[in-house]
Amino acid sequence: MNRRPVDPVDEAGQWTRLQEYLKAEFGRDAFETWLSKLEFKGIDAGTAVLAAPSPFIRDWIQRHYLSRIKETWARNNAAVLDVQVLATTGAARSTMGEEIAAAADAQAPGAPGAPEAMTARGDLPVVSDDSYGSPLDPRYTFDSFVVGKSNELAYAAARRVAEASELPFNPLFLHGGVGLGKTHLMHAIASEVRRKQPERKVMYMSAEKFMFQFITALRYKDTVAFKKQFRAVDLLMIDDVQFIANKNSTQEEFFHTFNALVDNRRQVVLSADRSPTDLTGIEERIISRLGWGLVADIHPTDYELRFGILQSKAEQLKCIDIGSDVLEFLARRISSNVRELEGALNRVVAYATLVGRPISIDMSRDVLQDLIRANDRKVTIDAIQRQVADYYNLRLSELLSARRARNIARPRQVAMYLSKRMTARSLPEIGRKFGGRDHTTVMHAVKKVDDLRRTDSSLDDDIHRLSRLLEG
Ligand code: ADP
Ligand code: MG
Repeated sequence: MNRRPVDPVDEAGQWTRLQEYLKAEFGRDAFETWLSKLEFKGIDAGTAVLAAPSPFIRDWIQRHYLSRIKETWARNNAAVLDVQVLATTGAARSTMGEEIAAAADAQAPGAPGAPEAMTARGDLPVVSDDSYGSPLDPRYTFDSFVVGKSNELAYAAARRVAEASELPFNPLFLHGGVGLGKTHLMHAIASEVRRKQPERKVMYMSAEKFMFQFITALRYKDTVAFKKQFRAVDLLMIDDVQFIANKNSTQEEFFHTFNALVDNRRQVVLSADRSPTDLTGIEERIISRLGWGLVADIHPTDYELRFGILQSKAEQLKCIDIGSDVLEFLARRISSNVRELEGALNRVVAYATLVGRPISIDMSRDVLQDLIRANDRKVTIDAIQRQVADYYNLRLSELLSARRARNIARPRQVAMYLSKRMTARSLPEIGRKFGGRDHTTVMHAVKKVDDLRRTDSSLDDDIHRLSRLLEG
């Protein structure tokens, strides 16, 4: 046996830590629906082995999360070269992966080929809870949300929705980059309504979970119950709707649910990482309806807001011994988003508690080295997309569209190429940011541009110039 002698307790500890990272990265909902189902089996000759309870979940994780799990793990432990996900039941059979893909991408329910695929047999998928909605995080309230210029519109709109007895605007569409408080505001709405108007039926879930439940319903020919669940709701909130881009049958079902509710004067609240008009891979008629109510964007934070958030979090942590000089330092240096800012504060506090050192700027700088470095030269996919669109005189929505005209497709490939080269994002993540494209499309683009650069000097120039612009 070539099994390395490793401490099994430490191995399991690694997985526990990794789970925390994954939760932060993918959000609690995706984590609970999928990643929490994984069981750590051990590390064998550089390969970490995880077990999923069914082939269905295994395939889903491989498709959506595996590359990120690998990257994160390797970063935390250089000895882990690969990660394998096995299914504990029926591992040998099953084409569940294809089945899910077919169900998700079928033109519409009832499209040729789709129904058979969807009724193929397989293991029972495990659903995290027996109600349709997702649990709410009790910490995400209006009280704990710090308001600044960048989020005041979204905050005010969310409050109106939670407090109004009449529908102020329908739907409310919240959008903004990751970690800026969309999910927080949605949970706050749900909690407030549940508290003040308990007779109203509130349902909150991520678009990913919506899709999962829809596909499950299709498989078990239980769509009637599925539809009924939603139509009985007074306030429906779907988080991260960009997820259903390019998932045609899910999109269709979402649209029906949405229309039925809005037509019956029920409140709908949606969130996405971009505005309705920039949502590619979602049908035009759907997009236009999404924008009928109020569209409120959350901008990146400014220094004052970051400082305010840190003050409020430090109070909650009851760590009286963190000086405002340290908070100032963090607010200045960690500017990417609130999630990272919170993570930085937690890390500093945890470290101080563990080693019993007082919290100072020097100590924070040590403990946060990696985060600070990443924030100093953080190029995001969003920034790349904007810069490339600008450079080639395209609209962002064109760049992200499905159009294949050369004058759009080439800049799009360039943007994918730069995203791979200049950010730490994985191919599937990049694909998702480009209107839900497949990771193989991104891979192809990267290779194509790499090849072209060698022969096409004007393209090579473009790339140098764009890189310089982006690095600032
Ligand atoms: P998003 O859904 O936009 O990606 P989240 O709502 O998950 O972002 O927010 C990420 C983290 O940052 C959460 O822990 C949330 O409580 C916190 N957060 C974001 N904005 C604020 C704010 N204005 N005040 C307090 N906490 C915030
Ligand atoms: Mg969110």
